[in-house]
Amino acid sequence: MKEIAKKAVEEWGAEVQTKMAIEEMAELIVALNHYDRGRITLEEVASEIADVKIMMEQLEYIIDKKAEKELVREQEKYKKSRLAKMLE
Ligand SMILES: [Mg+2]
Repeated sequence: MKEIAKKAVEEWGAEVQTKMAIEEMAELIVALNHYDRGRITLEEVASEIADVKIMMEQLEYIIDKKAEKELVREQEKYKKSRLAKMLE
């Protein structure tokens, strides 16, 4: 899956894919609000979540490439462990 993210960013460029990520996040916000009002189905919400997850993989690739390390993974690990501690 990460290979597809890398390919997409290399095909269309970091700038275009970042804009696409922003667009997909906005669509998810709208979908969540529409679902709350009963205007769309759960499947439509899931579809928007999938779009965002796909774009997050590409953003992670873009950021990690700039940082020259697995910066997103580091932050994810730190924040997940902090959350786990809060839930203890
Ligand atoms: Mg979408």
